[in-house]
Amino acid sequence: MEYQGQRIPCSLIILDKDGTLIDFTATWVPLIQKRVAFVLKRLGRNGELEQCLLKAWGIDPISKRVDPRGPCPVSPRCDEIVIGTMALYQRGHPWDEAKLLVSQAFDEADADEDWRKKVVPIDGIQTFLLNLKKNGFLTALATSDERKDTEAILHHLELEDLFDLVLCSGEVSSPKPHPETIHHICQKLSVSPSKAIMIGDSVTDMVMGKQAGVALSIGVLEGGVTPKEELEKVADLVVYSIRELKFDCWDEE
Ligand SMILES: [Mg+2]
Repeated sequence: MEYQGQRIPCSLIILDKDGTLIDFTATWVPLIQKRVAFVLKRLGRNGELEQCLLKAWGIDPISKRVDPRGPCPVSPRCDEIVIGTMALYQRGHPWDEAKLLVSQAFDEADADEDWRKKVVPIDGIQTFLLNLKKNGFLTALATSDERKDTEAILHHLELEDLFDLVLCSGEVSSPKPHPETIHHICQKLSVSPSKAIMIGDSVTDMVMGKQAGVALSIGVLEGGVTPKEELEKVADLVVYSIRELKFDCWDEE
């Protein structure tokens, strides 16, 4: 990989999922709106409650913009349930009833049609991964999403055979931005973190890469919600699209 005129030797490319392989807003905002709709179905239509729930999950109720440093881009589903529960609790609902109601609304929304088939991939992502494999790179996915959904999405996008290792929410004790995720992947694939590159769309991905001591942390803008200026503060390199990144053949030196 070429960076600032230098050749960076690397053998492992670690990618984030949401906002990196798939378009974050186009994939997740409709699902979250659907989850909110199922909560409202149980509690009665209420514009104020709808706004309150969307805000709790870090979505602007008017513009539908996702707060890049809000819970949405980094939280596993179980945290999102707690966030919705807290929003209802603060409005006077008993905690246990609120938690059950939000969990059921999530289950209903997630089962309604097959949202996994509505995930919007980044243009050229399959070609990008195929090229990495063709050139002998190891690849890993590090996501805060749960395994069941991650596998369904990878299968739907026909990407499941293009990763040597997939690490999901709850599979390490300290989640992003703690470096444990990268250290675990590197250990499993017998690669030093200094020969790995982290590619992601969020500040947490970049901070995790830095803390783990990877060769490069690369931020991508196309499918994410983090502004360029924010990513530039923590990434070694920020590109608009993953298609701009060129990795040539990995030779053991
Ligand atoms: Mg992401």
